[in-house]
Amino acid sequence: MSAGEHLPVLDRIKRSLVGLRMPRAIEILDATVRRIERGETTALEAIDTLLAEELTQRESRRVKTALVMARLPAIKTLAEFDFSFQPSLDRNRVMALAELKFVDRCETLHFLGPPGTGKSHLSIALGVEAVRAAKSVYFATLADLVGALAKAEHEGTLREKIRFFCRFALLIVDEIGYLPVIPGGGNLFFQLVNARYERGAMILTSNRGVAEWGEVFGDPVVDTALLDRLLHHASFVQIDGASYRLRHHADLVPEHIRSKAIIQSPPIAIPRRRGHPPKSGAADQNHH
Ligand code: ADP
Ligand code: MG
Repeated sequence: MSAGEHLPVLDRIKRSLVGLRMPRAIEILDATVRRIERGETTALEAIDTLLAEELTQRESRRVKTALVMARLPAIKTLAEFDFSFQPSLDRNRVMALAELKFVDRCETLHFLGPPGTGKSHLSIALGVEAVRAAKSVYFATLADLVGALAKAEHEGTLREKIRFFCRFALLIVDEIGYLPVIPGGGNLFFQLVNARYERGAMILTSNRGVAEWGEVFGDPVVDTALLDRLLHHASFVQIDGASYRLRHHADLVPEHIRSKAIIQSPPIAIPRRRGHPPKSGAADQNHH
């Protein structure tokens, strides 16, 4: 005999809904029952509505929480992205990336291009898609990431910190190349990339060609090993366009900044085949 058997049916349903943690269903229960009594809906439709409403609310809560956990700096979507402003960018290719197969395959996706061309926007938008698809996502700038790792190392908790960053199906590392990393930062980032290698996907954005990353990480040995992993199972989206931030001020921008060629040529041979890490020197194959 269950605890609530002496209660009227409606109260028992409410109790069950509380026990099942279905707040939205509780909220609309009375109104739904009244609609059944007035003959406006069938019992079957009522059950359907109750469950669908609960599920919708639960899903939107889940997405909201996961977006906060992902530490996205803003919410940007693919729908908000004006592809006509960036003709060098293949819309179909970006839309195909939004199917997130690269996340399932634990690949690395690079967005390369000058400032303001939408690298952060697109990486956030893919992050939002991943959250909607119930994949765990974490966003950080390279400086923040390296800072967090350095702090953890100082406190003797580097292993835990690396494990934390390995929990996410998709790690977005923004702004590689704006600032050189702190001393030892290249090594810390390498440890993280190595720990995630073939176990999780990453999106990296940079305003500098990959060939220049040696300067960013400041350690040629780490740099080679790092590139080896970041260029393997990787795809590249190069955006050669004008800054969206400056779209109304083109006349104020000096020619050398306005020019589309901050990254003059694709920095490396784009590895389309899987399973063959690019050799050092591969960078030269693509120069015209
Ligand atoms: P980047 O990271 O390449 O420097 P961002 O992605 O931060 O550039 O873009 C700068 C600003 O312009 C952001 O607010 C972004 O949402 C917006 N933006 C950039 N490109 C586009 C675009 N093609 N359509 C709509 N908004 C854009
Ligand atoms: Mg950016």
